[in-house]
Amino acid sequence: MQFVTLAPPTIDLDLRYATPDNLTGSPIYRRPLCLLHPAAAARLLEAVRLAAAQGLRLRVFDAYRPPAAQWKLWEALPDARFIADPRKGSSHGRGVAVDLTLAAADGTPLEMGTGFDDMSERAYHADTQVSVEAQRNRSLLLGIMAAAGWAHYAHEWWHYHLPDARSYPLVEDGALGPRMM
Ligand SMILES: [Zn+2]
Repeated sequence: MQFVTLAPPTIDLDLRYATPDNLTGSPIYRRPLCLLHPAAAARLLEAVRLAAAQGLRLRVFDAYRPPAAQWKLWEALPDARFIADPRKGSSHGRGVAVDLTLAAADGTPLEMGTGFDDMSERAYHADTQVSVEAQRNRSLLLGIMAAAGWAHYAHEWWHYHLPDARSYPLVEDGALGPRMM
């Protein structure tokens, strides 16, 4: 499968799992790229277009995530509300999920109430304890992503996947060719 790489200036990148700045405290994969299945890349480009029409940008935290990296996350936090059980496989391991936020035209991230990977009920889409501004920004992201054909996940405001994610195969990192470091 030939995955597609999306990069600046089309999107902004903040790939936390390629750095120690994630819930495990260390990098969980070495490929610092936003890689997606072509079907997902097309829908992300549609979301980019819709965001741009409102003067906004997309800032991506994670896209394709190798199944081996999913195990590292699960070992750090074995809670199925927040981490897909690696035995079942994550939509990220199929290249059809993206974790992201909205940013202003200058790249400043919008207020979303919690950081990426805040594994608490405050990260739920329907949480009303976060500020009204954050609730509005989450709704804005939800609207853009839904209009572009993405499904949301109730427990994480930053996560979106294709509605038929399970119909795509899990892809091992090695199947994508040489590491592009
Ligand atoms: Zn995700």
